[in-house]
Amino acid sequence: MDEETLERIIIKAIKRAASTVPPDVKFALSQALRRETNDIARMQLEAVIENIRLAEEKKLPVCQDTGILYFYVRLPQLADAELIRKTILNATIKATYEIPLRPNAVDSVTGENSGNNVGVNVPWIEFEPSGGDCVEITVFLKGGGADNVSALESLPAGEGLGGIKRSVIKAVMKAGGGPCPPVVLGVGVGGGAYIAMKLAKRALMRPISERNSDPRIAQLENEILEDVNRTGIGPMGLGGETTAIGVNVEVAHRHPASYPLVVLFNCYAVRRVKVKVFPDGKCQFE
Ligand code: SF4
Repeated sequence: MDEETLERIIIKAIKRAASTVPPDVKFALSQALRRETNDIARMQLEAVIENIRLAEEKKLPVCQDTGILYFYVRLPQLADAELIRKTILNATIKATYEIPLRPNAVDSVTGENSGNNVGVNVPWIEFEPSGGDCVEITVFLKGGGADNVSALESLPAGEGLGGIKRSVIKAVMKAGGGPCPPVVLGVGVGGGAYIAMKLAKRALMRPISERNSDPRIAQLENEILEDVNRTGIGPMGLGGETTAIGVNVEVAHRHPASYPLVVLFNCYAVRRVKVKVFPDGKCQFE
């Protein structure tokens, strides 16, 4: 596969990610609208659903906030990671102009905007080996309003599931309408602070229609979702029964003296796309 073909595929993936919302999220929004009884909340949900429909029809970004771009790449054994990294950066620059995307990468010291969504360590690119023969790329655009209310907490080591629930609800109450609800929550528990953050991010990547394979954690996900929707924050923070449309939790074993918990928020504009690129240059979007 040549570099130019890969670049066009990545640009296409960024465009899809920016201008569509995955089917599991659209389904959850439509179900929420069916259940919601608060008039203002219903109006907000209708506006959100119509916004997504228009973005997909006109192939324009779902939100003006590009967010920060993340790329998760699964590589076959002989793939050239450095070439793929360079191609992702070039594709991001071209996608910024072609789609167009709001340039969102600013220098952390001076605040100067790079103008093309590429800067020091952004887009964030992670590689992991895969046993297959294709390169698998997941593009994720993470909005700033939702990211700003992320929470990291060290719970007392004796806390159980009840402590996790209380801490997530506390983070949701503090966030209020800031993350543009209805939100999807990615919760990471255990390991250490860094591991919990990585787990929370992984949780956000999982479709909200899928529950954790551990039944205890799956039940926790359902219970947190119910509790979050009892807070009354509602769509865009204007009240109602739909504050979240999904809660995914990932866990790791932890140090006996530590109980790290991370809550990552994603707004309703969940923008993630996965594409498989085969050696002959063909691609398959999921
Ligand atoms: S948090 Fe999400 S919906 Fe809100 S402005 Fe940012 S990207 Fe848009």
